[in-house]
Amino acid sequence: MKFGTKAIHAGQEPDPTNGAIMTPIYQTSTYVQDSPGNHKGYAYARGKNPTRDALQKCLAALENAQQCLCFSSGMGAIDAVIKLLQPGDEVITTNDLYGGSYRMFTKVFAKFGIKFHFINMTDASNIKQYINANTKMLWVETPTNPTCQIIDISACANIAKENNILLAVDNTFASPFLQNPLDMGAHIVMHSVTKYLGGHSDVIMGALCVNDASIYEQLSFIHNSCGAVPGPQDSFLVLRGIKTLHIRMERHCYNGKIVAEFLRNHPKVDKVYWPGFTDSPNYEIAKKQMRDFGGMMSFTLKGDSMEEAFAMASRTKVFSLAESLGGVESLIGHPASMTHASIPKEERLKVGVTDSLLRLSVGIEDIEDLIDDLKQAIG
Ligand SMILES: *Cc1c(COP(=O)(O)O)cnc(C)c1O
Repeated sequence: MKFGTKAIHAGQEPDPTNGAIMTPIYQTSTYVQDSPGNHKGYAYARGKNPTRDALQKCLAALENAQQCLCFSSGMGAIDAVIKLLQPGDEVITTNDLYGGSYRMFTKVFAKFGIKFHFINMTDASNIKQYINANTKMLWVETPTNPTCQIIDISACANIAKENNILLAVDNTFASPFLQNPLDMGAHIVMHSVTKYLGGHSDVIMGALCVNDASIYEQLSFIHNSCGAVPGPQDSFLVLRGIKTLHIRMERHCYNGKIVAEFLRNHPKVDKVYWPGFTDSPNYEIAKKQMRDFGGMMSFTLKGDSMEEAFAMASRTKVFSLAESLGGVESLIGHPASMTHASIPKEERLKVGVTDSLLRLSVGIEDIEDLIDDLKQAIG
């Protein structure tokens, strides 16, 4: 089956009792057993729920994965991955990481004795010098947030294979419509389902997709033992949202390209970070590993003034000033004070997250209205 058909049908069968075409919201915590241990595969809803099962199967199909586990948030999913490790283990990750991941790695897991190296991975050959006998995992985000740097997933997979370590990819920015890291040799794909997958800014959820049975067993054990599972109502909303993922993504990409080009040609705009410019760093890698370039981008204004960036962000009317991304509605954000506030200033400046940088999540409204809004807001 192709992508759009999987988005609509994978994991979902008409209800056997009445033919309902949509998977019902199984709002139950437990299931009746005929005799102790003799049940229909469902014992307690932390472990298994039919609405969540349908969603997990659908997501696995979209990522070309054998298995998927859904979590109560993206951070809950990342937490489960890092719990695969032991004290003394080391992780190599990017220096342009989602702020919440950086905070979890440095403030939660560092105190349990796990060491994180935050490095520039845009040249994958840079990774090797940080590998030692304790290295157990590469944690990659691509495109990175917010400066849309591209990291070569296949090159990272080769390094992981040579050194017998895990490669985990946070695929939130691309969504499975644009990129499938397991096909390029990653072991674990993580999503903040909150973003493009849910797509309607009404659910917080995370997911992990894997092919390897032993990694799945370990993650599934952590999933049930630690319990960061999503509820059936949220699972239903995401199943519904995913049915239009391919259509939404096409429009995000179409609008994204026009907005990126508009910004680049605007006399008051300085830098524009969007992976689809032919002169962007690693453009050839982006073209190789992504099917299109998406609707996420960031830019700075000439003069680099925080006041002007703030003023612009508060003048937009169609673009709402808000955290998050990937919904149908366009959003504008100021990473230094919002999504990346937990990253120290000297660290964020190194990767271009200056005080005036603004990030856009270009939605699927009519492009004329988006351009008009940016025009009046930049002034
Ligand atoms: C939002 C986000 C997360 C965290 O996901 P939540 O659903 O908010 O917990 C992780 N990684 C990236 C790239 C994100 O954008």
